[in-house]
Amino acid sequence: MSSLLETRELSKRFVKHLDFAAKLARKLGANVQEEVVQAVDQVNLDIRQGEVVGLVGESGCGKSTFGRMVTGILPPSAGTIHYNGKDISNAASPEGHAAALKIQMIFQDPFASLNPRMRVRDIIGEAPRIHGLLEGQSQDEYVANMLEKVGLDASYSGRYPHQFSGGQRQRLGVARALAVQPEFLVCDEAVAALDVSIQAQVLNLFMDLREQLNLTYLFISHDLSVVEHISNRVLIMYLGRVVESAPTEDMFHSPNHPYTQALLNEVPRLDLRKRQYTPVAGEIPSPLNPPTGCHFHPRCPHATSKCHTEIPQLKGIAPDRQSACFLNETP
Ligand code: SF4
Repeated sequence: MSSLLETRELSKRFVKHLDFAAKLARKLGANVQEEVVQAVDQVNLDIRQGEVVGLVGESGCGKSTFGRMVTGILPPSAGTIHYNGKDISNAASPEGHAAALKIQMIFQDPFASLNPRMRVRDIIGEAPRIHGLLEGQSQDEYVANMLEKVGLDASYSGRYPHQFSGGQRQRLGVARALAVQPEFLVCDEAVAALDVSIQAQVLNLFMDLREQLNLTYLFISHDLSVVEHISNRVLIMYLGRVVESAPTEDMFHSPNHPYTQALLNEVPRLDLRKRQYTPVAGEIPSPLNPPTGCHFHPRCPHATSKCHTEIPQLKGIAPDRQSACFLNETP
């Protein structure tokens, strides 16, 4: 099956420009350089129609930046994004504009992303009205429909965001995204701010909507239990690079990459119904000064001298599975 979303060598660099004092110091001969962060480094990703792909990594690994490039919020520094076969790498192009409605983002903090001065009927109804999507319904009817889709009472449309609980606000965020009739949702830590019981309800809502509306998801999370629950396929990211990609069951039962193995290192618990994961030993290095070669080598128990100098490429290790580790090379 061909891909709905395809990224090739997608990269994002952030450059912190020098302030006045640093520029002056450089003029006077000091060795002052601009700080550069390679937040996303040549990521290739294919997502098929109807798939739920989980993108996992520790905080600062570049996964949110990747999601923001896919949704057109951030321009890529290099590489391409294709949606439905069309190049949408430039969000200002006609193809980029058309994809902006089809690809919607759900944010972690619904309160920060909902205008506190607007009533629900405008938060949800304004964009579809502007884009001519009401299809003969009044804005109120359209909004009532959206509220019902996400499990909220249609009578709430006159309320403001502060009159809702955290879980309800996230449902409002979902309703606002759905209102422009998207095909693809990028969920960035979309349940991270919610209590565990509410998390489960919102995850179930995502799955119901996938069935009803034939949606495709990129689900960005640091929480492995959430990703395991919801995804068909999982990608593991470390300091801007994808280090492993596999169907969810394979990833959780037989992780290949040492970083994935470390992430999945379970703590034995009396309550075996719930998995708990340990943080990976050692600190994540600064993206301002990432380790040479394999970025994971300072924390990897299997690192060799080659790992210090050469970059392992993401290569097929089994059908539908890829990993970026020299241990997979046959001697
Ligand atoms: Fe460890 Fe080397 Fe594999 Fe990187 S390439 S994960 S350092 S063994």
